[in-house]
Amino acid sequence: MQEIFDAAIIGLGPGGEVVADRLLSAGKKVVMFESELIGGECAYWACIPSKTVLRGPELRTEAARAAGVGAITLDWDKAREYRDYMARHLDDSAQFKGYEDRGATIVRANASIAGPGTVSASGIRYLSHHIIVATGTVPLIPEFPGSDQITLWGNREVYTLKALPASVAIIGGSAVALETASFLSGFGVQVTLLNRSARLLGREEPEAAALAEGYLCEAGIDVRTNTSIISARRSGEVNVLKLHDGSELSVDATIFATGRRPRTDSMGIARAGGLLDDKGNMQVDEHCWAADGLWGIGDVTGIMPFTHVAKYQARVVADCILGKERKANYGGIPRVVFSNPEIAAVGLTREQADTLNIESEYLTVNIPEAIARPGTYEENPRGDLGILIDVQRQVMIGAWAMAPQAAEWIHYAALAIRGQIPLATLRDQVAQFPSYTEAYLVALERLENAR
Ligand SMILES: Cc1cc2nc3c(=O)[nH]c(=O)nc-3n(C[C@H](O)[C@H](O)[C@H](O)COP(=O)(O)OP(=O)(O)OC[C@H]3O[C@@H](n4cnc5c(N)ncnc54)[C@H](O)[C@@H]3O)c2cc1C
Repeated sequence: MQEIFDAAIIGLGPGGEVVADRLLSAGKKVVMFESELIGGECAYWACIPSKTVLRGPELRTEAARAAGVGAITLDWDKAREYRDYMARHLDDSAQFKGYEDRGATIVRANASIAGPGTVSASGIRYLSHHIIVATGTVPLIPEFPGSDQITLWGNREVYTLKALPASVAIIGGSAVALETASFLSGFGVQVTLLNRSARLLGREEPEAAALAEGYLCEAGIDVRTNTSIISARRSGEVNVLKLHDGSELSVDATIFATGRRPRTDSMGIARAGGLLDDKGNMQVDEHCWAADGLWGIGDVTGIMPFTHVAKYQARVVADCILGKERKANYGGIPRVVFSNPEIAAVGLTREQADTLNIESEYLTVNIPEAIARPGTYEENPRGDLGILIDVQRQVMIGAWAMAPQAAEWIHYAALAIRGQIPLATLRDQVAQFPSYTEAYLVALERLENAR
């Protein structure tokens, strides 16, 4: 009789790995399918290598701004070696063995769903009570006349680079575009950022986007908004890009950061009763449940394309499968651009609050004017915080911060929003002196006094 697994996990990025870990720890019989490397996009070509190579430029900027600190130099070859170490030299054999030792069956192949409770890979069918789809996304590659003639890179090429080019154009205005620009420019590459719309970070508050643009320009990045490539040609080793306004830009390479689409093509999700939306995102409910015995987690659901969300959804699904019913709550989940300084945001923007008919109040604070920490941290200190509150319910519903370490201290707002902590409690909270977190109290008191 054919073996029946408790769970079949398709795709072993951060989402797939967390659900595997939880189910294996609970003693479940698990079969796991991975067509490339265990760890997914995040571990080898996205979060981990990008944050690793951003650290040097960040430190150099911080050193340049700190009183009495001499200039520090960056060594690309050493940074690259460490990046490769952090990305496991694109080798997942330790992970493979680790899961095998824990009793999992691992199939290194492209898998698809053959029917309810049935996964097919390399011509073999696997039966399972549950199927979890965690197949992530693939990049959207822009096409324009001549795009096939030039050096066109996505995140995989950028974050495995050995030698740095002298100049690049980056297409896009999202977190990935801004981080890539900060990294390359930090290592001395001449960067031109080409953004189709009028402002960067189109989903964030306009003040945050304007500040981000200012900091990028200050760092020597040529930011061009309202522009796009209409055609391209190769001239020797150089990419010549013809832009919307008729001007030409010559660069060594062109990098696209123009979004991604879910990897659901040919997955057979409908064969197990699952549905896709018009963008191909796998449809799931608040339990990440798609159909009887079918679950979807991570980027493939199109809900929030972050590693921390993929891992969270994985925990929700593992609990549901293990009989502890759990619903996903997407409130108060931070989103960070690891640029210099960091840009962190959480919750709603004013525009989103208006769409939801929430009566809101908004306030921004220039942090160095308000609290002591920025001045102790750096000369000519910088930093801004914006908060949005729900007037009726007297809770915080949105926040953004652009300042050193903002990725860390945004979690004050994240918890306030997720826990719907009353503003009165937040105003009574005592933050460490001197810390950036103190800026929240200033913002909250100013909002109260403005009433
Ligand atoms: C440059 C860049 C930087 C980023 N930085 C951050 C960051 O700092 N923080 C953050 O939270 N997010 C970041 N992200 C987003 C993050 O990478 C994703 O949200 C995360 O990887 C999603 O995890 P996942 O498990 O859903 O999918 P993935 O990581 O994409 O993993 C999916 C896995 O499924 C496998 N697979 C696909 N189809 C099949 C199939 N049919 N059969 C078998 N296996 C299959 C793939 O090979 C892959 O290993 C970044 C993204 C990019 C591009």
